[in-house]
Amino acid sequence: MKKNLCKTCRRFSQKLFLKGERCFSPRCAMVKKPYPPGMKAKKRKFRQAEYGKQLVEKQKLKISYNLSEEQFKKYVNQVLKKRGRVGDEAEELIKKLEKRLDNVIYRLGIASSRKQARQLVSHAFFLINGKSIDIPSYEVRQNDVITLKKGKMQKNFFKEILVVLKKKTVPSWLKFEKEKFKAEVIAEPSLKEVVPNAKISVIFEFYSR
Ligand code: SF4
Repeated sequence: MKKNLCKTCRRFSQKLFLKGERCFSPRCAMVKKPYPPGMKAKKRKFRQAEYGKQLVEKQKLKISYNLSEEQFKKYVNQVLKKRGRVGDEAEELIKKLEKRLDNVIYRLGIASSRKQARQLVSHAFFLINGKSIDIPSYEVRQNDVITLKKGKMQKNFFKEILVVLKKKTVPSWLKFEKEKFKAEVIAEPSLKEVVPNAKISVIFEFYSR
């Protein structure tokens, strides 16, 4: 059965940007029906237990980055293993998620959703420092240069996306020469820029119980 992605956003009362361009338009379900599915438009407040809050924050982040429970847990565990050695665990987790190659392609605006970005990466459209990489979870590093494979720019998809790209801004940790489809990782992603209001630390409590 096809999953209603908009219902997921409404359930978490937050835009998770799962449907590409639609998410930025007035057709977004969070604009039209900004209340959980099954509820009337009137505000109905309910108290959520601590466990519930942790679960919700974990689910929001996991679904936003289009990851399975197993994949997401792996990232959390990598950060937890370094507990005490990394300054800010929330920052560390966001860095790991943001530096996935599929996320980078999404952040550059080449794909309208992380799901689409994953497909593009899997179809081996991109080179990193001149080498073909088709692994969506590939972790980019500072100074990495991401380019489109020779000849791919002629594909209609990329010709059309160029028009869209001109209107998009990219995060400060990426430099993007849009006409050339050439991007460079110039800094580390930061929690403040990516999800300034998320309560990431409760996710670690969820997995530490
Ligand atoms: Fe979520 Fe709105 Fe995008 Fe639907 S259109 S996935 S509600 S952000």
